[in-house]
Amino acid sequence: MKNIARNLFYVFIAFISISLLFSTYLSPTQNKTDMDITTMVEKINNGDVKSIKIINDKIDLTLKDDTVAEVSKEPTESLGELFKNYNVNPDQLKQVKVEVTQDSSVDSWLKLLLPFLIPFVLVAAFIYIMMRQVQGANSRAMMFGQSKAREVAPQDKKNKVTFRDVAGAKEAKEELAEIVEFLKNPKKFINLGARIPKGVLLVGPPGTGKTLLSRAVAGEANVPFFSISGSEFVEMFVGVGASRVRDLFRKAKRNSPCIVFIDELDAVGRQRGAGLGGSNDEREQTLNQILVEMDGFDVTTNIIVIAATNRPDILDAALLRPGRFDRRVVLDAPSIDDREAILKVHARKKPFSDDVDLRKVAQRTPGFTGADLNNLLNEAAIFAARKNKTKIDLADILESIEKVILGPERKSHLLSEHEKKVTAYHEAGHALVAHELPNADPVHKVSVVSRGRAAGYTLKLPLRDKYLQTKEEFLAELAVLVAGHVTEKEVFGDVTTGASNDLREATKITKQLIMQYGMSDVLGQRTFGKREELIFLGKEITEQRDYSEKVAEQIDGEISRFIADAIKTALNIIKKKRNKMDDIVEVLMKKETIEQAEFEAIFDEGKEKSNITEVIS
Ligand code: ADP
Ligand code: MG
Ligand code: ZN
Repeated sequence: MKNIARNLFYVFIAFISISLLFSTYLSPTQNKTDMDITTMVEKINNGDVKSIKIINDKIDLTLKDDTVAEVSKEPTESLGELFKNYNVNPDQLKQVKVEVTQDSSVDSWLKLLLPFLIPFVLVAAFIYIMMRQVQGANSRAMMFGQSKAREVAPQDKKNKVTFRDVAGAKEAKEELAEIVEFLKNPKKFINLGARIPKGVLLVGPPGTGKTLLSRAVAGEANVPFFSISGSEFVEMFVGVGASRVRDLFRKAKRNSPCIVFIDELDAVGRQRGAGLGGSNDEREQTLNQILVEMDGFDVTTNIIVIAATNRPDILDAALLRPGRFDRRVVLDAPSIDDREAILKVHARKKPFSDDVDLRKVAQRTPGFTGADLNNLLNEAAIFAARKNKTKIDLADILESIEKVILGPERKSHLLSEHEKKVTAYHEAGHALVAHELPNADPVHKVSVVSRGRAAGYTLKLPLRDKYLQTKEEFLAELAVLVAGHVTEKEVFGDVTTGASNDLREATKITKQLIMQYGMSDVLGQRTFGKREELIFLGKEITEQRDYSEKVAEQIDGEISRFIADAIKTALNIIKKKRNKMDDIVEVLMKKETIEQAEFEAIFDEGKEKSNITEVIS
């Protein structure tokens, strides 16, 4: 943009100057009338002429009435001869002021040269502008090797993040507090002969606050913070990555003590010699350069490199050895207490109505990361604003939880009456089986309003955060998953495409159960398949088989058996509790959604009724 503006400016200047030149060249300074020599002589003899000015072969004649006339004469003939030849009255001539000037050279030269000069100037200006642009591009090319690291200086109060802004993550903060101490007071450690750690690796799933935490370290230690993402090292041109690494560390050394933060380290730090595609070599060079730089600082260079990744398993072993990223800080998806704390951090600047209990929100959001929770409150604020409320209430938050989990509601996606009925039975099947199996997660909501890609949904939430899952829980989950499909078949005698997602999920879980967790009695306690973490076009392309053809067959058999068992369990429940299912469907057809309390009530009501019938009979 700046360039275009500048060029326009040049063109404008050129245009102005050219038009100025032309105007001086073309327009006469005074209005002169042409006159022939005989008339001139006549005028002189009559005493009408005030003065004569001779410029080369032109005679400017100023008359008594101040008009100016121009007379041409032969260049060879002198004025004296001319007057003599034409018999000018010498007495009259004495009255006239005669002035002979050599044509003022600038003017005449300009007049002579301008026709050549203008195109020349134009071309020169054009070349000049082109040159400048090329130079600009050149200097940009020179900039290429420079790191694009963003710096947050300690004076920058607005972007400053401290540990206060990071909720939960207690262990990680403790570990990093030590790093802050190193940066603030290195002497204390050096005097005891301790080696200051050079690298800290933050490991955790996306959105758990790795970037945030490393910025907090810089904020706490009050040192400059250089951040760059791993993917920014690698560009189209060979050697750029390595040169960017060099530049980054050069900058860092100038500003030491400081923190260098490399986000998404896995983009460059993947195991060497294992990649696919042409950029592999480039990546290796970049990685090598990082290793060289990290080895390069001595004890007194007070730079700490913090790197973040969600794939520590694929990092090159050389990165992880002592003296490089030898400290690991693990960030996990937050626990319920941490979630509450994170919600509190993000709730600081938002007005909530009194019915909002952040603890309850935390309960409803197992598996949410810090980023999800931040997003959740933001969505809730948007919902509230859309409804012109001044405060965010619980309904807004619940609504946005579902939006974050399942995608936005699609009210316009209207189901026909029959489709709605099929969907209602499908969801009622999921919900019923989930309710009846003690190991399944309780049902929070059933709905036939479509969301994202699903026609309806049954929202189940675990009672507590789960770190370990038992086989019984897996089996219950499987039965719940197939229940939709089973119900459709049982009630309508036919199945729809609505169940395909459920079946895919069920197959995936069964596969994990057998192949990763060793939960199959037939195949025994071992894992099957070695996952090669080759990432190509964003997808894992290989799952290496480390078992025989025969075992593969057995695995397939086991998968089918697990699913068949799940179908049996589900079918049993559905047949036994068909009347409950019909009750659920009735409500769904009327109200489209059932919340947890109402859902439980359907079952309690039944109990009362059956008690009564018992009393009667
Ligand atoms: P990562 O780098 O691990 O993918 P980020 O550090 O970028 O995740 O986190 C994204 C956002 O999530 C942060 O900007 C912050 O708003 C929120 N967040 C994550 N973890 C926390 C936390 N522990 N406390 C407060 N906010 C958090
Ligand atoms: Mg990040
Ligand atoms: Zn389903």
